[in-house]
Amino acid sequence: MKYKTTIGLEIHTQLLTKTKAFCSCSANAFDSEPNTNICPVCTGQPGALPVFNEEALNLGIKAAIALNAKINEYSRFDRKNYFYPDLPKGYQITQYFYPLANNGYIEIDGKKIRIQRMHLEEDSGKMFHEGEDLENASYSYVDYNRSGIPLIEIVTEPDIESPEEARKFMEKLRNILRYAEISSGDMEKGALRCDANISITDTEKNIQSNRVEIKNINSFKFVEKALEYERNRIIEAMEKGENVPKETRGWNFSTRSTFSMRSKEEEADYRYFPEPDIPPVIVTQEKIEEIKKQCQK
Ligand SMILES: [Zn+2]
Repeated sequence: MKYKTTIGLEIHTQLLTKTKAFCSCSANAFDSEPNTNICPVCTGQPGALPVFNEEALNLGIKAAIALNAKINEYSRFDRKNYFYPDLPKGYQITQYFYPLANNGYIEIDGKKIRIQRMHLEEDSGKMFHEGEDLENASYSYVDYNRSGIPLIEIVTEPDIESPEEARKFMEKLRNILRYAEISSGDMEKGALRCDANISITDTEKNIQSNRVEIKNINSFKFVEKALEYERNRIIEAMEKGENVPKETRGWNFSTRSTFSMRSKEEEADYRYFPEPDIPPVIVTQEKIEEIKKQCQK
């Protein structure tokens, strides 16, 4: 085969906790009236202090066990700073420098797809626009019910070699998360969301394209379709001898095509630093064994 496809995935999945990651608000965002499950912590009021939800940690550990990952005894939360209306604090609490777990894998048709890291973080609020997007909308609404729901982000190594394999990975991941009662895995409800990056290598000329990222894919079918579209677009450009810019693209499900969102060069600097209000997360071997035992029941 002349063209080799290289794909890596970043997956956000909501953990099935009763309450949010850092406050006691209900984590059931989907069935509630907008802005009813909110408090000073998850709406970022001055002076409000987050307290980490042990249930979220336990589900994160369970996910790491289910995905064959190494759980780190020490992990820590950091602040990812950016401004957007769905993020009332002006930063997201995540684990950047010290993730909960590393080096997992899922097997697809006898092949291991490696997982580089798994980390805990909080979800943002959700925006609704009257019109296309924030810039062109006549009105925009924001619902903070989702703000602060615990997530685990799963980052794969670029081991996936086709759009079909990417879909199979997502399906298998969803089955594992559902079976172990870690997440509902409902892509249509946003409980499982996927960003995919893809590059193509011309193996005859030994030229590799830039990496293109596709953001926020919300169905298994679209994971495959969006990556197929992108693979064809990149190969077409390479055949014409054109440069494929390094960029972030979105998937438009009505036109069944991707569109440019921003070039990678303009990507924000998130000024990560350690979250001063939450102590480090220490996971003992005993705790891991205890959760393993629960899994075997
Ligand atoms: Zn709250």
